[in-house]
Amino acid sequence: MNAIGRFAPSPTGPLHAGSLVAALASWLDVRARGSQARWLVRIEDADTERCLPGMGEHILSQLADCSLLPDVPPVWQTQRGALYARALEHLKALQLAYPCGCSRKDIDEALAQRGEPHHRHGERVYPGTCRDGLHGKPPRAWRFAAEQYEAARTSKRLCWSDRRLGCQYQDVAHEVGDFVLKRADGPWAYQLAVVVDDADQGVTDVVRGVDLADNTARQILLQRALGLPQPRYLHTPLVLGSDGEKLSKQNGAAPIDTATPAAAVRALNAAAQVLGLPASNASTPAEALSGWVEGWRALYNPRP
Ligand code: GLU
Repeated sequence: MNAIGRFAPSPTGPLHAGSLVAALASWLDVRARGSQARWLVRIEDADTERCLPGMGEHILSQLADCSLLPDVPPVWQTQRGALYARALEHLKALQLAYPCGCSRKDIDEALAQRGEPHHRHGERVYPGTCRDGLHGKPPRAWRFAAEQYEAARTSKRLCWSDRRLGCQYQDVAHEVGDFVLKRADGPWAYQLAVVVDDADQGVTDVVRGVDLADNTARQILLQRALGLPQPRYLHTPLVLGSDGEKLSKQNGAAPIDTATPAAAVRALNAAAQVLGLPASNASTPAEALSGWVEGWRALYNPRP
């Protein structure tokens, strides 16, 4: 099977130093696997409210300035709704998806009544209110019946292995609860879209920032429920801002400067350093990139 990797930016802002690390790492991981391997770019614009018009195209041009060119034309999640709908129907047929009528306030109230913390790891753990019916409320979102699915399994703790971080585990039902597949305001949830897309595109290797590692157990549960293959995972280190926080579009991270080849090489050099690769003194991005492939192979040992 040929290796397929991908970079999957959300067009909520231009590429910044942090997102370039994920782009570079996923590209190097593919190139280090030989000429048959393919690197894809998927524009994750499912969350239409947070996406900015024209930003997908802008990100593609920033990538091109860095010579990070996808091997096949990029896909856009907003054009793939039928695939996500089919997966939801599949989960419904398995009785692993149910409609939920709870607002955030309903969830917070139910959690307070139970004396449970509102948030665990920054997320609300859904208390399962609508698992046995909508209680007269109109349906708003669709949720994955994680608790029910996990109960059928012998071990509740889902273990998975990250190529950099080693063994990881999460009890999804306990730590996250029945998570959303389709949101109350309409869009497909990231968890469902990413699982469907990675499988549909034949992705064998997910390489992305460590801030997304916490989603992996949910994604593996969905893969298992839908009978989809599980890719290998590698979560890269994050770029921290001067405040010590993760650099993100939300806290105003500056876009990378790719106005000239020299500027693009500088941006790539900063990203390479985060990945433990030496600075390049190449004059073009393409030259810098090819210079790192061997180093990536030595550090992260991708199999062909
Ligand atoms: N679209 C997600 C983001 O930009 C990344 C999804 C993924 O790589 O799985 O944060």
